[in-house]
Amino acid sequence: LAGLFATLRAGFPADLSRPALIEPSAAVLSYADLLDRSGGMAAALREQGLKAGDRMVVQTSKSVEALLLYLAALRAGIVYVPLNPGYTRAELDYFLEDAEPGLFVDDAELARLVTAPARDFAEPELGGDDLAAILYTSGTTGRSKGAMLSQGNLASNAATLIREWRFSGVDRLIHALPIFHVHGLFVATHCVLGSGASMLWLPGFDADAILVALPEATVLMGVPTFYTRLLARRELAPELCANMRLFVSGSAPLSAETHREWEARTGHRILERYGMTETGMLSSNPYEGERRAGSVGPPLPDVGIRISGPDAEGVGGIEVRGPNVTSGYWRNAEKTAEAFTADGWFETGDLGRFDGDGYLWIVGRAKDLIISGGFNVYPAEVEAAIEVLDGVAEVAVVGAPHPDFGEGVIAVVTPRAGAVVEPEAIQAALRDVLASYKRPKLVLVRDALPRNAMGKVEKAVLRRELADVFG
Ligand code: ATP
Ligand code: MG
Repeated sequence: LAGLFATLRAGFPADLSRPALIEPSAAVLSYADLLDRSGGMAAALREQGLKAGDRMVVQTSKSVEALLLYLAALRAGIVYVPLNPGYTRAELDYFLEDAEPGLFVDDAELARLVTAPARDFAEPELGGDDLAAILYTSGTTGRSKGAMLSQGNLASNAATLIREWRFSGVDRLIHALPIFHVHGLFVATHCVLGSGASMLWLPGFDADAILVALPEATVLMGVPTFYTRLLARRELAPELCANMRLFVSGSAPLSAETHREWEARTGHRILERYGMTETGMLSSNPYEGERRAGSVGPPLPDVGIRISGPDAEGVGGIEVRGPNVTSGYWRNAEKTAEAFTADGWFETGDLGRFDGDGYLWIVGRAKDLIISGGFNVYPAEVEAAIEVLDGVAEVAVVGAPHPDFGEGVIAVVTPRAGAVVEPEAIQAALRDVLASYKRPKLVLVRDALPRNAMGKVEKAVLRRELADVFG
């Protein structure tokens, strides 16, 4: 495979005046503009002394220019290292020291990079193994690690997703995700640009803006909270989604309940997929064929997925390999060695099983597994039993040290707007549904669950808070 930018460019429309990025109430960026301006920026980066292989750390707000900067880095062979704009100065220091960039770009620096157009910027010859980006993991389970992603890792995954999800030049994607993570930066933009489609470029998630955009769009990619928040809006109805062909969810588990409600309210079955920073996308429910609520679907065509050390129910560690998988963590030989098996498979840290039809079901992270009275309790199973109960909006299940059982199961529940949830009612409702060792010893009702920037529930935060509840 050639470099990522060359792969994307091969999918650009023949008519370069077609739109690539559309900002509400701003100028449209055509594919010609995109080539002119990213080429100009690539030349400017060269002038700053950056060479192919140098790192560039980028901490900017989401803007058209920020996306152009990413494309400029790809064109110049500069390793792109995006960071969450929410990081403080002190947090930033860790990443700067770790990545050792040739250039750090914030919003002020980005504004200074305004350049003359250079559509035909001379791109260096890039190989599949050349580094394209270092992406830091979300830090859900510990300190963020920098995953090294090569041109080939990203190009292969882009080509696979465009094919599997049937992207073409007529598509218009609603882009409301942040662009410092795999989902918004790679999955969404590569599918669009590599198929000559266009995207509505929104600064972030805003239910009002999405409701306005839906009638003019064909695809939405979101994290599960996008869908739960949209479901809370009365305006969400089939007519609004008449032009839409695909809703994709990922980055965190989508509850089967949300999947069913979305279908009832819009007529569309959400396509859930599974991936991670280190690997890009791994599995996906089918575009044609059955999308199973609660499952992340079969492995993508060029990805291998196996379950290590399965228990009686087939649940074990999810291990993967494929052209999309990282070669390791940036300057961290120890974590890299830990992450791969002796025969070269990457250990995701997630637990799951395959059903009889080859669909993968994630039951939680290995670090979130609860062992109560010597039995394994998989949080996802308990969460699925609780989220269908009356009045429940969201639930997170964690374990805390327990003097008799080793760990005790705790369910933290948030109520739906206007509903009252009684812990006793939840306990009673679970009696006929779950074996006693799986049932929560404690049910807590909260206004909200702790979430990180990607909308993922921070179970480590809950565990810390609840460490002493059982005395
Ligand atoms: P860190 O590795 O720093 O602790 P993280 O694992 O949350 O953070 P990411 O790489 O952004 O960082 O997230 C990948 C993880 O997200 C997967 O390992 C998996 O646990 C979870 N995930 C992604 N998609 C899904 C999905 N569809 N269903 C369930 N979990 C998912
Ligand atoms: Mg991880």
